[in-house]
Amino acid sequence: MSHRVLIIGSGPAAHTAAIYAARAELSPVLFEGFMAGGIAAGGQLTTTTDVENFPGFPEGIMGPDLTDRFRAQSQRFGTTIHTETVNEIDLSSRPFRFKADAQEGSADSVIIATGATAKRLDIPGANDGELWQKGISACAVCDGALPAFRDQPLVVIGGGDSAVEEASFLTKYGSTVYIVHRRDELRASKIMQQRAIDNPKIEMLWSHVVTQAKGADFLEAVRVRDLKTDEERDIPVAGLFFAIGHTPNTAFLGGQIDTDEQGYIVTKPDSTQTNIPGVFAAGDVQDKKWRQAITAAGSGCMAALEAEHFLADNP
Ligand code: FAD
Repeated sequence: MSHRVLIIGSGPAAHTAAIYAARAELSPVLFEGFMAGGIAAGGQLTTTTDVENFPGFPEGIMGPDLTDRFRAQSQRFGTTIHTETVNEIDLSSRPFRFKADAQEGSADSVIIATGATAKRLDIPGANDGELWQKGISACAVCDGALPAFRDQPLVVIGGGDSAVEEASFLTKYGSTVYIVHRRDELRASKIMQQRAIDNPKIEMLWSHVVTQAKGADFLEAVRVRDLKTDEERDIPVAGLFFAIGHTPNTAFLGGQIDTDEQGYIVTKPDSTQTNIPGVFAAGDVQDKKWRQAITAAGSGCMAALEAEHFLADNP
């Protein structure tokens, strides 16, 4: 089937794009994925509990409830949603041809909003069904302010700029923030390293790894190993934050779109346009800096408006 606008993804970026495109009478079709990138349809917010920083919900809202609302709003204005992953797309000429799990088709414009998957370590106790989201998160800015972390010791795993940034952010709430890093120096920039070292609330655990997350119903401690001595010990903590990077979901594009060295789609400044006319990218798949539901939604709005202008100029 041929479509005017194909939207790939299902987080706040994809659904905001769908709401705008549907209201512009472009009859968008949205492929929400089926566990694409290891994430359920609805996106990263389905992996979290309370969302307290999305405007319009003064009491907060559970992540999965918020994504259900995005989806219902897309459908209300006439978006067609398929629970399939887009596995291939040919961007060499318009209309762009694509193949999903059970169907194929073509589209005059494409909005890629496939997000990114936060990397997590496979540590005993930290997985889904264990203590994940019970004191363990991959987003300090999102979850750091939760009451359970106030005045409690916290731990951040990672050694890059974002690990130091997340740890510095967490010092607003936690009593002590440990940064656990497997090497004896940080990969972070000099200025960020100094910031960590100068912060009296941050304690560096150089050459250490976390080997286990412990707790009954909520995280109570992490087991760490000193890689130089092989000694292990438990550190009581109420929060564990992975800051070991994200994987943007761009592999299915097969290198047809310009990305940076980490695989994030490069968009033109102040725009969601990619290097291919008629192909737009929104949300975390093109944003490694802000990574918030509201910023993803904002760029989804931009993508739909840009697609609408593009289609008006290129019928
Ligand atoms: P994503 O949410 O990443 O969703 C993309 C979707 O596209 C996924 O469902 C994926 O399966 C699907 N997909 C991927 N490839 C394909 C394909 N080929 N075909 C079809 N579908 C595909 N932000 C906040 O603002 N507040 C919070 O409190 C908050 N808490 C968070 C807690 C955690 C644990 C995490 C990990 C993130 C949190 N965030 C929070 C960040 C927020 O979830 C993301 O910034 C936001 O979801 C990004 O939206 P997105 O639309 O770019 O895509």
